[in-house]
Amino acid sequence: MAERDYYEILGVSRTATQIEIKKAYRKLAMKHHPDQNPDDPKAEERFKEIGEAYEVISDEDKRAAYDRFGHDAFKNGGGGGGRGGFHDPMDIFSQVFGGGGGGSMFDDLFGGGRRRDPSGKKRGSDLRYDLEISLEEAAEGVEKELEIEKYATCGTCSGSGSKSGGGGAKTCSTCGGRGVVGQQRGIFIQQATCPECRGAGQVIADPCGDCGGDGRRQKPERVKIRIPAGVDDGTRLRSTGKGDAGLRGGPAGDLYVFLHLREHDVFQREADDLYCEVPLPFSTAALGGELEVPTLTGSATMKIPAGTQGGTTFRLRDRGMPTINGRGKGDLHVEVQVEVPTRLTPEQKEKLQAFTESIGEKNSPMHESFLERAKRFFDL
Ligand SMILES: [Zn+2]
Ligand SMILES: [Zn+2]
Repeated sequence: MAERDYYEILGVSRTATQIEIKKAYRKLAMKHHPDQNPDDPKAEERFKEIGEAYEVISDEDKRAAYDRFGHDAFKNGGGGGGRGGFHDPMDIFSQVFGGGGGGSMFDDLFGGGRRRDPSGKKRGSDLRYDLEISLEEAAEGVEKELEIEKYATCGTCSGSGSKSGGGGAKTCSTCGGRGVVGQQRGIFIQQATCPECRGAGQVIADPCGDCGGDGRRQKPERVKIRIPAGVDDGTRLRSTGKGDAGLRGGPAGDLYVFLHLREHDVFQREADDLYCEVPLPFSTAALGGELEVPTLTGSATMKIPAGTQGGTTFRLRDRGMPTINGRGKGDLHVEVQVEVPTRLTPEQKEKLQAFTESIGEKNSPMHESFLERAKRFFDL
């Protein structure tokens, strides 16, 4: 094995404090522990290397010798030119992590030692419900009743889980109250949630016949939610305490309602503004007049000035969506599309012909500016 610098191995500076050194070792040793890397034969080498480096650098006398003489400081004796004088890296690991016995350190390191309420109470899960609403409902606000599959508090035992109602919790004999069952594997403990108490650490001595001691049962529940005016696609509403009931009377989780806006056949929404396209008879476009346009709250009459071109957008103030904070409203943008009549009678065609002759080309502003730009294509 090439002799790498001990400080480099641990990734610390030559002036690192013992606290920094220990921290660096813990991190690396966890990462390269052979039990964590069963398929990587190099991990064991790394693990040894880290242990050796730590053994030297963590000991002030050895560190001083290493600082002066480098690896040579530890080369005398040792027999066979091997790793003379070093402890088993597993021993070092156990020393640093306080391991060997109980395994309580490992619980913390591997997340197995979650804090549990000694009564076995556990908060219920948060739930998500996806709800589709119409644009009109989003504009007005609406109250909805949702049917939610969830854990609801058991009515028989009022959530205590105990038949007598007096709690009656006792330490789970399967896991000894730890909530997890573990298998020793090397110095690591592989843990699984205890199947008996399902992680609570406690079982009910006289479990309720209806919920088996859980204090809650899976059943659909109707939940009313109030959707405020102005909500948009993707708005998330939280209903506190409407999620799953807690285990054995623990607090309930929350219900999150994710709103989705159904596509509307007339309006498109962008933030608080609405957009729509409305056909405009070509005579009204030329002569001006009034146009009936849709709004979310019924129809409105819009003034069309004479000579309106197709594609013109008019803005109707405050006819959009209400803002969610209740202050004001967005606008409605109406884009007119000039409509060309079809199925003309011979008489109408004649009149239109006469009209065309009378108007000439001078009175077509768009056509003129187009010709100006496109002249070169037309051989004029
Ligand atoms: Zn019950
Ligand atoms: Zn248990």
